[in-house]
Amino acid sequence: MKKQKLISCILLIILIFTACTYSTNPTESVKADETLETAQFHFIDVGQGDCALIRSGDTNIMIDAGTSESGSIICEYLSNLGIDYLDCFIGTHPHEDHLGGGAAVLSSVDVGAVYLNGETSSSYFFERFVDVLLQKDITPFIPDIGFYDIGPFRLEFLSPCQDFGNSNDNSLVLTVKFGDVTALFTGDAERTVEAELIKNGSNINADILKVSHHGSRYASSVEFLNRVSPSVAVISSGSGNSYGHPHKEAVQRIEKSGAEILRCDIDGTVVLMSDGKEVYSSAGAQFDKNKEEDAQKQTYIGNKKSKIFHCETCPNLPGDKNRIIFNKRENAVMSGYSACGNCNP
Ligand SMILES: [Zn+2]
Ligand SMILES: [Zn+2]
Repeated sequence: MKKQKLISCILLIILIFTACTYSTNPTESVKADETLETAQFHFIDVGQGDCALIRSGDTNIMIDAGTSESGSIICEYLSNLGIDYLDCFIGTHPHEDHLGGGAAVLSSVDVGAVYLNGETSSSYFFERFVDVLLQKDITPFIPDIGFYDIGPFRLEFLSPCQDFGNSNDNSLVLTVKFGDVTALFTGDAERTVEAELIKNGSNINADILKVSHHGSRYASSVEFLNRVSPSVAVISSGSGNSYGHPHKEAVQRIEKSGAEILRCDIDGTVVLMSDGKEVYSSAGAQFDKNKEEDAQKQTYIGNKKSKIFHCETCPNLPGDKNRIIFNKRENAVMSGYSACGNCNP
């Protein structure tokens, strides 16, 4: 049994490596004349775990597949929507609450491409997942940092941009863009990754945020939320989970950012709709996108060394290392920073 598991894992590593070396650019599948229909972002209630389904027209993308226990729930959800083909399945990282249902899902539907972060696991759920990949002759890819167009969606993989040394932080982090609307999926990546994405200038600004690590206090930092500036944030945690997710500190920070919070443990499955310009709840309520632009206008940049803060366009901005971002002027003043005499923020 153990030997078999080892062989499966070795085979997968070879497959991933081979795929990476010889991968052709999936952007070739873009339909150039695609007219925008509406898109739906489903955050399926899988208890303590992640599973998002993104659809428009006949394009279907799934990010993570919940726990082993929720595999049958996801299969039923897909079948109720008449989906028997996923253009793309993305497993952010090999933890049971993200890939546990992967074997069930990929057994029940066909898939165009599978993207993984390249890590393996010796757990039973992963062994089963690998078995299904092998059975169905599916070669997983490790996506490069950059763009992949799938139907009307533009995916941009932002991370792992380096080896962060643990599986949660090595989650695939990506944005999914539909028209002018962007959703950011963070897997279980926490503050180290958030800081790196800010530092390396990744485009993380988004309308919809899949809150990282089920609302852990070690993710969703103030600086990160300021940069993302979401109008709606979805937390996928299971009610009564043993981790205490979502942690109240994280929830408070997200509330303060001005984003509307939706929670799978309270709201059940969350469905957001978009026409490529705005984001709506399934009941038709609009999430205010302009708020995001206003919040961006009000960003102030402080110099940690000189304790002076500037507006974003000031020619005397500090280097990245010494920067601190304030979303309100009063926050800069309260933190003991004084206004730059040049740009008069
Ligand atoms: Zn995890
Ligand atoms: Zn997780």
